[in-house]
Amino acid sequence: MQQPSIKNYEFETGIYRPPSEGGSASLLVRLTRNCPWNHCTFCAMYKKEKFELRSPEEIIQDINVMHDISLQLKEISIKQGQGGILSNETFGEFLKKSPDLYFHPGISMLFNWLAVGGKTVFLQDADSLIMKSDHMIQVLKHLKLSFPTIERITSYGRSRTIVRKPISDLEKICQAGLDRLHIGLETGDAALLKKIKKGTTPEDHIKGGRKAIEAGFQVSEYWMPGLGGKTMSKNHAKNTASVLNQINPHYIRSRPFTPRPGTIFFEKASKNELERMTSKEQLLEIKQTLEGLDVSSRVCFDHAGNFWTGPNGRLLLSQGYEGYQFPEEKQNLLELLEKGILYYS
Ligand code: SF4
Repeated sequence: MQQPSIKNYEFETGIYRPPSEGGSASLLVRLTRNCPWNHCTFCAMYKKEKFELRSPEEIIQDINVMHDISLQLKEISIKQGQGGILSNETFGEFLKKSPDLYFHPGISMLFNWLAVGGKTVFLQDADSLIMKSDHMIQVLKHLKLSFPTIERITSYGRSRTIVRKPISDLEKICQAGLDRLHIGLETGDAALLKKIKKGTTPEDHIKGGRKAIEAGFQVSEYWMPGLGGKTMSKNHAKNTASVLNQINPHYIRSRPFTPRPGTIFFEKASKNELERMTSKEQLLEIKQTLEGLDVSSRVCFDHAGNFWTGPNGRLLLSQGYEGYQFPEEKQNLLELLEKGILYYS
């Protein structure tokens, strides 16, 4: 069989995805490039990059290339007497035939995904719902048809974009296969949202989160402990809990604030001008936020920034992707936080 040229193997992969998608070895399919908003002052992810939509044809071509690679791997595995099971030997043999793919940024991601059964997919980059709805539906249908093993497809989505999209479009996108939306809430405090230039209000967050749930999506809201520093900590905690209560998302995920290189916060931190919170203050703020929660969500600390340790030297909070079920595990979690606060006192 003639080997397709390297050109035919080109497919595009972005960099970022939520920790839970890394944990499930999700296939990364790039729907758009970078962030259509790109003003949040704490975020450096796409700062120097220009936002671009990709055409459905371009994305479908990527999916076709990945599908073709999957067929070739299966064929190699059968020839190796492994009955279609993908092993390191299969990947090694494939790369021997296509050595240029060694340097492809997405090839290990694709191998890992196929090796674990090809079940979960993450659509990149920062706000896929900004695409035309019918384009997104076309891509989702093609993706599911190409890889019938897919069980879950997720993506990032901005509250403001969800608010603007007709509910009927959201429902159709959900029915076409997009299961979960990861939304960057960051805070429910209006003054802090304005300060960090999130381009959204607490009302948008509530409306967007509720609308996504109503359309049928699982909703995962990321909040950023420590974002308001000491000065805004109390209002950040109180108003974040209040907004989350009004959404009652499936998941609430803590992604603690860190000054990232390339942001104003990093510049200030390098000049020692940033009001830093101690570990104890961070945990106090998280405790205050959780105390205010009246939700039936899973509360997760799956981001590496949730680094606090307890008296036994181990991680204080579980970094599992399914986290703690509220309200059942709320009390346990508050007790853990209390232990951490004492430890750092
Ligand atoms: S919307 Fe998300 S990706 Fe875009 S600038 Fe804000 S935090 Fe960064």
